[in-house]
Amino acid sequence: MRVPIMAANWKMNKTSGETREFIKTFKPLVADVRETEIVIAPPFTSLQAAADLLEGGNIRLAGQDVFYEVSGAYTGEVSPLMLKDAACSYVIVGHSERRQYFGETDETANRKAKAAQDAGLTVIFCIGETLEEREAGNTFDVLKRQTTEGLRGVRADGLVVAYEPVWAIGTGKTASPEQAQEAHRFIRSELVTMYGGAADTIRILYGGSVKPDNISSLMSKEDVDGALVGGASLKVDSFAAIVKYGQET
Ligand code: PEP
Repeated sequence: MRVPIMAANWKMNKTSGETREFIKTFKPLVADVRETEIVIAPPFTSLQAAADLLEGGNIRLAGQDVFYEVSGAYTGEVSPLMLKDAACSYVIVGHSERRQYFGETDETANRKAKAAQDAGLTVIFCIGETLEEREAGNTFDVLKRQTTEGLRGVRADGLVVAYEPVWAIGTGKTASPEQAQEAHRFIRSELVTMYGGAADTIRILYGGSVKPDNISSLMSKEDVDGALVGGASLKVDSFAAIVKYGQET
């Protein structure tokens, strides 16, 4: 059985003070959650504040990005070892905003994923088609390329895939549960080609305008193993409701 993951991607939001405030309120609301992994990816500058409050609890920390070298003259970059040192156990790699605004390619995302795994981090590897690609009927070709190129040499152990259709990120347009399942099933079949039976253990998260009112229908689909949540993870109540989907909060 795949344990679901609910991961918050805070993007460029929250100072360390705001991070502390969020975690102090959020932590008790989810303290009894055992059957879902909870992950928060704050900005790098808030990792320490978060780590201090999360030590020993059931919430894991993630970096939002990472560089593929261990150390050196790479101004502005953060290495996998630095994320480990900052108490991260996960890292998001290849997010569409990195691809769209910061020149991330399948190749750089691949190098980052391998370096992160080498340092002992679990990689949340993001893939997904743009609206133009979907409308041109190229969704599966894009997903195939992003998995084949992006995950070459990446191990199944320590890998989570996030399917995030770019047209659904921050737009309020969620993929329907059927559209999500169709893409997740295709991704799973690609993972089977790459990893054989181990593909069954890889969690595939859905991301793109996930909210408390759509999480249950998405989670009802066989190949949807959790969510990567942007906007709705910035508010304590809405992220707690997503984590505890299907229960009264
Ligand atoms: C994301 O950035 O990973 C994301 C899914 O954002 P949102 O939930 O705001 O669409």
